[in-house]
Amino acid sequence: MDKLDFVKLMLNSLGIGEEVIAYKNSPYERVISMVNMIMLGQRKSKVHPKLFGELTEKYFPEKPHGQLIFTYLQNITDHLWCYKCNQVLPKENFAMNAGGKSRDRQSCCRGCRGGINKLFDLVAVNKRRAAKLERTPPWADHDAIKKIYENCPPGYHVDHIVPLQGTHVSGLHIPKNLQYLPATENLRKSNKFEVG
Ligand SMILES: [Zn+2]
Repeated sequence: MDKLDFVKLMLNSLGIGEEVIAYKNSPYERVISMVNMIMLGQRKSKVHPKLFGELTEKYFPEKPHGQLIFTYLQNITDHLWCYKCNQVLPKENFAMNAGGKSRDRQSCCRGCRGGINKLFDLVAVNKRRAAKLERTPPWADHDAIKKIYENCPPGYHVDHIVPLQGTHVSGLHIPKNLQYLPATENLRKSNKFEVG
């Protein structure tokens, strides 16, 4: 369900009816809706601090001070909001973050994360392709390069001894700069190359 549906469901289950959500004909006519208050917090929704305090006290007495009501609702229901697809989904739909991060789950659901990773891969592939072109001198032996790639043994990658996109130095896309490396080692090496 999307963000707004989630908030409405929460309000309904807390016994706060639509009339409170839509404020229009309520005594709080001049205040922005409760939904805004929940999603934006007191300052951004411009709800009077006193009223905000009263409503929070009444409907969310357990909410830690300073925490956004929307965050609180996600916590107590074990749900998380994905900023990418705007859906509020069970926590399990979000991959764990690597240790030491302030948030234990990623802010983007697995489905959206997959799409982003694919995009990153595509960008990386294009970057490598461009680097190869750029780092191939006019005198390079194209046939010899092609042969090296064709004869690469299974489980091995063709590796640039001096990386094409190195941090300190950039190698050339020529036969002399190519070697076979076990695939796992090649992935570990990435673009690190120390100038001796
Ligand atoms: Zn998503």
